[in-house]
Amino acid sequence: MAQEEAFPEIDAVQGQRAGMAFLAGSRFSETFLDCANDLIQSIDRGGRFLYVNKKWRETLGYDASEVAALTIFDVLDPACREQCATLFRDIAAGKILHSYEVVFVAKDGRKIPVEGRISTDFRDGELFATRGIFRDISRRKEAEDLLRDQKLLTEKLIRYSAVPIFVLDPQHRVTDWNRACELLTGISATEMVGTSNHWQGFYTEKRPCLADLVIDPVSPNAHASLYTAAQNSELQEEGLHAEGWLDAVRGERRYISSDAVPIYNRNRELVAVIQTLHDLTERKKMEEELLRLATIDTLTGIYNRGKVEDALRQEMARAARYESPLAILLFDLDEFKKVNDTHGHSIGDLVLKAVATSVGKQLRKTDMLGRWGGEEFMVLCPGIMAEDAVAIAEKLRQQIEGLPFGVTISCGLAGYRPGDTLDALINRADKALYGAKYAGRNRVRLTV
Ligand code: GH3
Ligand code: MG
Ligand code: MG
Repeated sequence: MAQEEAFPEIDAVQGQRAGMAFLAGSRFSETFLDCANDLIQSIDRGGRFLYVNKKWRETLGYDASEVAALTIFDVLDPACREQCATLFRDIAAGKILHSYEVVFVAKDGRKIPVEGRISTDFRDGELFATRGIFRDISRRKEAEDLLRDQKLLTEKLIRYSAVPIFVLDPQHRVTDWNRACELLTGISATEMVGTSNHWQGFYTEKRPCLADLVIDPVSPNAHASLYTAAQNSELQEEGLHAEGWLDAVRGERRYISSDAVPIYNRNRELVAVIQTLHDLTERKKMEEELLRLATIDTLTGIYNRGKVEDALRQEMARAARYESPLAILLFDLDEFKKVNDTHGHSIGDLVLKAVATSVGKQLRKTDMLGRWGGEEFMVLCPGIMAEDAVAIAEKLRQQIEGLPFGVTISCGLAGYRPGDTLDALINRADKALYGAKYAGRNRVRLTV
């Protein structure tokens, strides 16, 4: 009767089932165990429940009268039945038990992962009962699953981003090398991950990449020697941005824009640096081509007037600063109208091209030839006195005269004078050219 009072809900159903005595038979114990926040159970060697506490019943959704009709196998997830059968055999064989995890199934079918410890009660050398204390770890499991999902998502995000990305750990080892980075560099992630060979994707010789500079900050001067324009990244202020031509991207020179951004943990310790890359080669080439086209005369392929004017401005500034001489030649084809009238405009075009090519071949590298307009051309001769440039102009005149088209040129020369404006210098050359025409064409004149 004393036992009935101690565990009335179990005794009422189990009736004759013995074994309650191994639990201290007192109301105090019952109350005490019911206060526990863990699931506490005792089962006999047949798996029948001798005792379960309140938390057990609440968690699995059974009332006391139902528990008596259950065995442990009724509340175990079928997936871990085998594991538990082994466990029971081990227990019966007297093996030491460690904590382990199983999954219970509640009355309503919910699966409840638990973590627990089991102790045994042997009587006369025979296993009489086991006692288990389990903790509901559903929330921990959920958090672990969430974490695993998030990690997977992050991995996939990096892996399949259209942006080439690689990630370094604080020891400069590659931890990620995504698909787009494989395509950009032609090097697979399997070759790269775990090594510090990331430079091989971009350079012919070992040198730091932008991400390495984020790991080991060096002075801005050192940045400048490694990158023409390393600066703080717009993405994150502690990151770096740089762009430029890299030697060996899939064996080619490619124009790459990069951002390298540090990732810190909650303790502000660096855990990774992410470098994203942007291949701007095609755009850069297009820009350079546009720039080139904007400076080139389409008929003759030599510089156009705008480019020559820009260059003349620069050369005048240089001449002023270094007090160095500068001469300009302005020449015009004589009676070119006749060429067109006689042979047609397209033949006239060919003659213009041939004159430009012929003159271009004759000049020094430092000289610059441009089409000034119509059948008029300009030559810049930096570092040469106008008087000495007369010989150059005379050579050109003779050369054109010698071409098989029967065309000649008149040439006006002028030298830079300190204080000259662009117009003033050009006007003197123009006047000299007019002088040459006036004097009968096919000659060189210098305005002093
Ligand atoms: P001069 O300079 O000796 O005084 O006589 P000119 O006949 O060369 O002078 P003018 O300025 O009267 O004529 C220049 C000619 O050059 C007229 C124009 O049709 C021709 N011309 C200008 N640009 C081009 C061009 O791009 N292609 C061709 N085929 N002809 C051109
Ligand atoms: Mg002319
Ligand atoms: Mg003309």
